[in-house]
Amino acid sequence: MRLDKLLFETGFGSRRTVKRLIKSKQIKVNGQTIAVDNLNVDPDLQEVTVSGTRIHYQPHVYFMLHKPAGVVSAVSDASNQTVIDLIDPSQRVPGLFPVGRLDKDTEGLLLLTNNGQLGYQLLIPKKEVTKCYEAVVNERVTSEDRAAFAAGIVFDGGIKCKPAKLTILSHSATESRVLLEISEGKFHQVKKMFLSVGKKVVYLKRLSMGPLQLDETLPIGSYRALHIDELTALK
Ligand code: URA
Repeated sequence: MRLDKLLFETGFGSRRTVKRLIKSKQIKVNGQTIAVDNLNVDPDLQEVTVSGTRIHYQPHVYFMLHKPAGVVSAVSDASNQTVIDLIDPSQRVPGLFPVGRLDKDTEGLLLLTNNGQLGYQLLIPKKEVTKCYEAVVNERVTSEDRAAFAAGIVFDGGIKCKPAKLTILSHSATESRVLLEISEGKFHQVKKMFLSVGKKVVYLKRLSMGPLQLDETLPIGSYRALHIDELTALK
């Protein structure tokens, strides 16, 4: 956003007053004096001060939620608790939405924001944002499965998935624990990929989305604002 627009919107006076303020060299962006009004600043990431006082302009919020099972990834729902219900009412800003969808029974990383443009950038197929999931599968996962995932699983009906990286973490007599990295977001994708090789996902947790990693110190069901380095990596 342009510096003069930012100052105008944060109440530093009329457009003319703001121009005068900027020319008088009282504005600093990340500590550097700025005397031009057409500079583009990102108030999510840069510190803007007027005569030494930081201005607070927070049009966008970014929350990392450790989604629990049993909650739907929607803004509203007639019969289920939603991920928005997990946000403190004082922080439920207009336009807050979950970036992408995790199934009701899936846990893990979910980003919530009111920045529609960033959400869109993370979701469009062209960007191929990598998502990493931990899954427990009800049978022994084999190296043949790994090869099939790497080659690109084809669903019934002919829809082909992009190559995916399957890593086997451990086996027991009755199940396998795996990591799966995919770079697309088809509906129920992970579950359907395993069904295609005859296996059922019995537990699913998202660990990462692009550069954003689930903060494992966040208790299930709680959330926190993204740290500045996490936001910088996403933008
Ligand atoms: N794939 C699934 O099957 N479910 C999810 O919740 C996310 C990815």
